[in-house]
Amino acid sequence: MTQLAIASFQPEFVDIAKPTRHKPALVLNADYRPLSYLPLSLWSWQDVVKAVYQDKVEVVAHYDDVVHSPNFEMQLPSVVSLKQFVHHERNLAFTRFNVFLRDGFSCVYCGSKHDLTFDHVIPRSFGGRTTWENIVTACSPCNMKKGGRTPQMARMPLHSVPKRPNIYQLQEIGRRFPPRHLHSTWLDWLYWDVELLP
Ligand SMILES: [Zn+2]
Repeated sequence: MTQLAIASFQPEFVDIAKPTRHKPALVLNADYRPLSYLPLSLWSWQDVVKAVYQDKVEVVAHYDDVVHSPNFEMQLPSVVSLKQFVHHERNLAFTRFNVFLRDGFSCVYCGSKHDLTFDHVIPRSFGGRTTWENIVTACSPCNMKKGGRTPQMARMPLHSVPKRPNIYQLQEIGRRFPPRHLHSTWLDWLYWDVELLP
């Protein structure tokens, strides 16, 4: 029910490369935690204004900017919280992005953050499957070096044992990757360790 209501806004995660122009609002769940960290849950100001009028969100903080129309005037919200709690899906999608995120966007063999690919820990030729437990993030050079061998055969130990993560674990990892542009009013709800640049 709640999810349907939220879906009806069709909010999209906006590009915040130019936040001063887009004025997106940070969207918090009813428990005041962000809906997601990576990508950060942001709605365009148009979606947010609509949600305010439909009484689906509470305004937590504002921009200085005001939008006008013949009938109304509103200070643009910079942080809103949903009035109804949205439950996260229990079964996380097994996607390329989520595997990269679980592994912190670094190679499980050498820690490199560049030229990332996926590796079957137990190669398919040995019956290795395409699952959370057997797919890891690997940089291209490590992938080439390992070839069709197991980590033992290639003498390439993994930094961490691949497991199926839960949504909270992925959210925690996502917090390590704050976007470059953060509005000052968002910081209270997001990251303890990010300083606001003047
Ligand atoms: Zn590597």
